[in-house]
Amino acid sequence: MYPDLKGKTAVVTGGTTGLGLAIVGRYLEEGMNVVADYVGELKVTDDLKALQDKYENTLIVFQADVTSEEEIDALSKEATDKFGGLDVWVNNAGIEKPFPTAEMPYDEWQKVINVNLNGTFLGTRAALRAFEKNFNKGSIINMSSVHQQIPWPTFAHYAASKGASKLFTETVALEYAEKGIRVNNICPGAIDTPINAEKFADPIQRMQTQSMVPMGEIGEPSYVSDAAAFLASEQAHYITGSSLFVDGGMKLYPSFQHGAG
Ligand code: NAD
Repeated sequence: MYPDLKGKTAVVTGGTTGLGLAIVGRYLEEGMNVVADYVGELKVTDDLKALQDKYENTLIVFQADVTSEEEIDALSKEATDKFGGLDVWVNNAGIEKPFPTAEMPYDEWQKVINVNLNGTFLGTRAALRAFEKNFNKGSIINMSSVHQQIPWPTFAHYAASKGASKLFTETVALEYAEKGIRVNNICPGAIDTPINAEKFADPIQRMQTQSMVPMGEIGEPSYVSDAAAFLASEQAHYITGSSLFVDGGMKLYPSFQHGAG
């Protein structure tokens, strides 16, 4: 637990499922006020309902499409109006859909870049504006991926968006370091969330993925929310422009693990 987080306010995009929901739950547990963003029709799962019941005064669930300037600005305003400020913004929303690159429709390329990269820009800009308005040393966390480093055939749009997230994060971190505003990336490996539900429902595909993780385990969402709590906290006050891999060693060239090569 990180006592300095108590009473602070966070926005988490894509905050009602998977990693976003785990981060929302962890931040609420830390005593933070949280605005959990969603897009489209809200699915109130048992996990979300339990948080809404337990944290009725500190959790707001708010609809905003991260690709819309107006909706992202409304999301930021909701946090500052309802909770009196903003301290942490997590750009977590993300999508993926495989296509061989030669067959990838242009609109599918654009959709992924729009949510994963443009959405991260819009969220970051809204957060910076809110931090600067109150001279606040806030923290921005971008949900990147091991695929900011590991190439991923048939996911060229996704890998491009996450690769861009790395240099975007580093650039904005440098630009705002003097103001004490920190910007970091989390790079999950293979984590059990809705984005992987179809793949992991097939035992063969699940084993295939697991065999690419040197620590031999598909990750739990809490492994990522632990990292998001740390990066938001004062314990990480000297950390900016970093990429924290939460991947059981997946980026360490697992095919070399037992001395092959
Ligand atoms: P997920 O599908 O549960 O979460 C993605 C969330 O983003 C969903 O809630 C979805 O509704 C939301 N979203 C999509 N488009 C949006 C939009 N336009 N506006 C607002 N919200 C939108 O899957 P997840 O695994 O929790 O993914 C969260 C993030 O983690 C993504 O950025 C993903 O790329 C990244 N990631 C996940 C893994 C993994 O193994 N699960 C690995 C690496 C990176």
